[in-house]
Amino acid sequence: MPGSSTRQSGRQRPQDRAAGEAGLARGKGVRSRFIVDAMLGSLARKLRALGFDAAYYRSGGDAGLMERSVLESRIILTADRALATSAESKGISVILVKGDSDRARVRAIAVEAGVKGIYLVRGEPMCSLCGSELRSVRKRDVSEVPPAVERHHRLFFRCSSCGQLYWRGSHWKRLMSLAERLDQ
Ligand SMILES: [Zn+2]
Repeated sequence: MPGSSTRQSGRQRPQDRAAGEAGLARGKGVRSRFIVDAMLGSLARKLRALGFDAAYYRSGGDAGLMERSVLESRIILTADRALATSAESKGISVILVKGDSDRARVRAIAVEAGVKGIYLVRGEPMCSLCGSELRSVRKRDVSEVPPAVERHHRLFFRCSSCGQLYWRGSHWKRLMSLAERLDQ
C-alpha cells in the first residue's frame, strides 16, 4: 500500500465540517469526511472511489478512533455497535454500518445519514488506494495496461500521489450506478 497518509494529513483542514451544507449532491460543498473502522477496509476504498474523503483507521483503540474523528471532523463509520453507542454518548458523529456487502453498506450509510440529518456530499472520484486526487492521462502515456483494456478504453486516470492507474471498466460502471442512486 503506497504510503500516502502523511501527504494526506498535510491536506486535512480540521475546520471543515464533517457533514456538508449543500445536501446530497455531487460536487457541491465540502465532500463528506469519514473515518472508517478497521474491519471495513474495502468499504473505505469504495467510498473514495465514490468521491468521499474516507480515512481508514487500521489499528488502535476506540478512544484513538474517536479522538481522530473529532480532530479531523470525520464521521465514524463502524459495524461495532458498542463503539457506535459510545461515540454517540459523547456527541460524536457516527453511523452504525449494516449490510453484508459494500454495496449494501453504502446504501445503508445513505439511509442512516438521512435519518440522522447528516447530509452527504460527494466530490470527484478519488484514488481508492490512498484517497488522493485523480488526473486524466493521455492514452499514449499509459504503458502498463493490457492491450485488451487499451483497445476498449479511451479515458485513463492516474493518482496524483501513488501513481495507481484507473480506467472506466465494468467495476467502475457498477460503482457509478450505485452513486447515481445515492444522489437521487
Ligand atoms: Zn493513490
